[in-house]
Amino acid sequence: MKAVRNIRLCTKDCLCLFVCPTGATNTDDGQIDASRCLDACRACVDACPSGAISKVPFNFPPQQPKEEAVCAALSTLLDAKARQEAAMDAVISAPASPVQAQLAQALKQSIRIVAEDMLRESGFMLPQGAPAKAFLRGLLQEDLGADFPRDAVEALLEALQ
Ligand code: SF4
Ligand code: SF4
Repeated sequence: MKAVRNIRLCTKDCLCLFVCPTGATNTDDGQIDASRCLDACRACVDACPSGAISKVPFNFPPQQPKEEAVCAALSTLLDAKARQEAAMDAVISAPASPVQAQLAQALKQSIRIVAEDMLRESGFMLPQGAPAKAFLRGLLQEDLGADFPRDAVEALLEALQ
């Protein structure tokens, strides 16, 4: 079992940094270093006042295949989220008032968070992180056949720079 931190619950009071015997909680990216986390320890879980840390199995079972119907429904839903986000961008670029701009910004963030959560729950990888970018770059190094959407991957990588 390894400790993981839910960064959205973390209030950054750093208690987990003081109790960890290996320094696994003290990292630059906010994630707990699994390679230094001790299986039998749960000091940070017990110390965290926000319930932000849990112990989870290190080896997860293989991911279930995604049903086509689920992918199609998700795609429709995410298209709607993208349109909603674009609508908020339009308001933000020409707001009727400062309050409207603030509200649109908040709604945009909320829409984005829901969309990202849906993708994560569905087992899709989000491209913002360094591992995802490395994965995408790795794909470009391989010969994946004529159906491989090379242009889309290159455009995605460029957009993420
Ligand atoms: S103890 Fe919990 S709330 Fe405090 S820094 Fe660690 S994870 Fe965040
Ligand atoms: S479970 Fe123990 S070893 Fe692992 S991160 Fe928490 S305090 Fe450190």
